[in-house]
Amino acid sequence: MSFLNQQELSFILNELGEERENYFNAVSAPIIQTSNFVFEKVDDLSRALEDEMNGYLYSRGLNPTVDILRKKLAALDGAEDCLVFNSGASAIFASVFANVKSGDHIVSVKGPYTWAQRTFDVILPRFNISTTYVDGTQIENWQRATQPNTVIYYLESPNSWDFALQDIKAVSALAKSKKITTIIDNSYCTPLYQRPIEMGIDLALQTATKYIGGHSDTLGGILCGSHAMIKKIFDSEYLNVGSGIQPFNAWLLIRGLRTLPARLERITRTTVEVVKFLKQHPKIETVIFPFDETFPQYELAKKQMQGACGLLTIILKGITREEIVRFCESLRHIMMAVSWGGHESLAMPKCTGIKKEDFNPNNREHRYVRVYVGLEDAQYLIDDLSQSLDKID
Ligand SMILES: *Cc1c(COP(=O)(O)O)cnc(C)c1O
Repeated sequence: MSFLNQQELSFILNELGEERENYFNAVSAPIIQTSNFVFEKVDDLSRALEDEMNGYLYSRGLNPTVDILRKKLAALDGAEDCLVFNSGASAIFASVFANVKSGDHIVSVKGPYTWAQRTFDVILPRFNISTTYVDGTQIENWQRATQPNTVIYYLESPNSWDFALQDIKAVSALAKSKKITTIIDNSYCTPLYQRPIEMGIDLALQTATKYIGGHSDTLGGILCGSHAMIKKIFDSEYLNVGSGIQPFNAWLLIRGLRTLPARLERITRTTVEVVKFLKQHPKIETVIFPFDETFPQYELAKKQMQGACGLLTIILKGITREEIVRFCESLRHIMMAVSWGGHESLAMPKCTGIKKEDFNPNNREHRYVRVYVGLEDAQYLIDDLSQSLDKID
């Protein structure tokens, strides 16, 4: 499995795509905050109108600040090209929508990200496109769910609650043999820890809102693939829905990228300590973390991922909803919020998405509390978890 070479990574994050001589040798990229671009020749304008990928015409298409980001992100993923969207959800929507027509069928890993699932369950059925969900851990399940009209395999590995993995090489090989397009949500790992395109995936997407931005101050979505595939999506969904990222937000993501390796390195170290603390704690039943030896797919995780960090899920020994609530509300520094990938550590109980009367203590998933480890000091976080665990029975 080929991971990013560290020298290559330094070059991508500091130099690739930046043409400093064109903007006063400024170190930081300019925010080209413009909607449109002027032309002197009618023929040049015609050429630009004919194909918006030819050059700068209107910022719903290409924009120079966004292009710097696109080049870096494509290189990180080892992809030919990349589009950056306003949010991860719009990257998901465009990648799927561009590759289906009425009557088609999709096989998706079960329990994908909420808004991928809404696309499959609410929007696509209106166009007579159906989706079968599979336990993606077994390759046979993909094979068995495939129909003659299957056009997409949708993967998310690991997912962001119980971190179930798919064997990415095996699923993409199966898809290739059937001419099925593969799409993966790689948000958990980022290309620093997993490179799906190297493993044969057609479209690798991630939310940029999480690790790439890294500061909980902007949304963004990334979609990487071949020139042909990216051009197809640019000409249709990207331009039509107008869901491309704005120049200022692109600039924030470029800034986030500069420190991505340093942030992931620190979070990786802190997560190991937090996991160690939680595993030995008498009030914790289980810690779910893909790089822990007890994780059911530990071998596969080690094989296809270079690292794991930040997100982990705990199950308390106490089984009532009240105890979960008390634990989460007793945290003093770790905040309660959706999302992850920023500087701030977070906790998120699964039961927030379940009606009180539907909470079932015998359903392990209902008891999940997801913890995101941010950039704070490890002992500071451990002390907070410790005092909060002391508050429950
Ligand atoms: C947050 C998230 C998304 C969606 O990204 P947005 O930028 O919030 O639209 C997609 N996939 C996963 C796994 C996520 O956690």
